[in-house]
Amino acid sequence: MSIACRWPDHLAERARQRHDSGCWRVRRTRPSADALIDFASNDYLGLSRDPRLAEAEAEAACRFGAGSGASHLVSGHLEVHEALEEALARLTGRPRALLFSTGYMANLGTLQALCDSRVHVYQDRFNHASLIDGAQLAGARSRRFHHADLTDLARLLRRKPAADRALIVSDGVFSMDGDIADVPGLAAQARHHDAWLMIDDAHGLGVLGDAGDGCVGRGHGSDQVQVLVGTLGKALGTAGAFVAGDDALIDHLIQFARPYVYTTALPPGVAAATLAALEVIKDEPQRRKRLAHNIAAFRAGAAQLGLPLMASTTPIQPLLLGDEARVLTWATRLGQSGLRVGAIRPPTVPKGQSRLRITLSATHRPEDIHALLEALGELMTEAAT
Ligand SMILES: *Cc1c(COP(=O)(O)O)cnc(C)c1O
Repeated sequence: MSIACRWPDHLAERARQRHDSGCWRVRRTRPSADALIDFASNDYLGLSRDPRLAEAEAEAACRFGAGSGASHLVSGHLEVHEALEEALARLTGRPRALLFSTGYMANLGTLQALCDSRVHVYQDRFNHASLIDGAQLAGARSRRFHHADLTDLARLLRRKPAADRALIVSDGVFSMDGDIADVPGLAAQARHHDAWLMIDDAHGLGVLGDAGDGCVGRGHGSDQVQVLVGTLGKALGTAGAFVAGDDALIDHLIQFARPYVYTTALPPGVAAATLAALEVIKDEPQRRKRLAHNIAAFRAGAAQLGLPLMASTTPIQPLLLGDEARVLTWATRLGQSGLRVGAIRPPTVPKGQSRLRITLSATHRPEDIHALLEALGELMTEAAT
């Protein structure tokens, strides 16, 4: 007997609307022997495929197991997790760090643990979805200020009832735009209004700062940025995330962040591979130099072609095409030329601001960047005729 369950009309309607708007998403399986040159990933230093990470991961899996077996508070917190937390605290110049399974969960857990209805959260309009969702799930009073607009933030902060607490939240590097938050400016607002400041440096960690310590890094200690979030799945090449800060913050998260408490600890192999990644980042600053060189080469070439670059100095170099259909066509054509780029459309970005999200990596060769620019040049010429 089969149980026939009709798909509800209101859900079918949502799907139809998404199709109609040109924003239906499809996954494509990336073959293991990938022929495309990747300009879409967040693997900015090329570490995800570094054999030293894979070897560290395999060795730890053999010694400690493929999985950690339990949550951190039960029996899943292994020595390799402890060592990684210490290394991440050192990298970011903070007293302590706490591992989470993903960046999404780190943001949900932190906001949920810090917020209640007496906390007002102020978010940059372009913040990552996990920050927006986290404040909403926490039941906090959430306000969004105009992107990178400290005057708008100050205006909102002045309206807060004096007895209530404020938490200012911003991406460090904006994931779809590539620009860097004005951390000193945000910190000044936080001091002035006696607010906490939380920075999610998912795309800055490993890439920015003299030691790869990110856009917040050691120069902005926990007296300025009380809550620092970093992810391990981007430049560090593995998976997972952490929150760094002082003792009071970390102890509070261990007690009250439900996405920390009620989930299995990262596999020990992932922690070991991340420790290996931190060694590479420390020992091979030439990777960051190579990346900076590639970013500059791409921008120079794209500017010459008259491509719609955005004001970004980071590996995230979007081309703001605007139209949803055009973004899809260009991404498909680039794919046919052997180049993978991200096609970013609503709801990830506002309508009419669809873009190709091009990301540079330290492992791109000059001929890779040349091939990308050549293909983009052809598309430009066609669009003009
Ligand atoms: C990618 C990203 C996250 C989510 O991290 P995951 O580890 O992939 O879940 C959080 N914040 C920002 C700004 C990101 O770009």
